Amino acid sequence: MARLAPGPRYRTRHYNGVLSEHLWAPWRLSYIKGAKEEGCIFCTRIQRSSDQEDLILHRGESAFVILNAFPYSNGHLMIVPNLHTDALELLPEATMADMSRLLQRSVRALKAALSPGGFNIGFNIGRCAGAGVPGHVHQHVVPRWDGDTNFMPVLADTAVMPELLQQTWQALKAAF
Ligand SMILES: [Zn+2]
Repeated sequence: MARLAPGPRYRTRHYNGVLSEHLWAPWRLSYIKGAKEEGCIFCTRIQRSSDQEDLILHRGESAFVILNAFPYSNGHLMIVPNLHTDALELLPEATMADMSRLLQRSVRALKAALSPGGFNIGFNIGRCAGAGVPGHVHQHVVPRWDGDTNFMPVLADTAVMPELLQQTWQALKAAF
């Protein structure tokens, strides 16, 4: 899919009742100015112990749940194996089982905290398939609401302020 340039028609898009224009500008600026992180962002966060700052919601035996810092929608989270691999087929069965448990738990928490009307759930494997972190497989859980914007065309430019991410983290953390 061709990437669409950001334009005025996206700036009037509503984001849970808040104009996205108010949401993305400051965050986008810090994103543009920010230094590119060295190494694998998932492996770095597994090793740190700053879960709230890192937006980690839950740590399982062999996988963890983390909010996406550049979400397609509010509450967009990812289920990530602790093992660094780009090959889903090489994940141990126990890890896949752990991820399934975390998926159900995530859907339950999202329903309780945000009452979405539906979900998009899936893996983007490989850069050509849209994987943002192609070296470390991860499963996306994207809550959806009636009338929300189809996230695909605006994927590259969707961003929210850190404050909203922290509010969402707290609401979901309580529901986990
Ligand atoms: Zn990794």
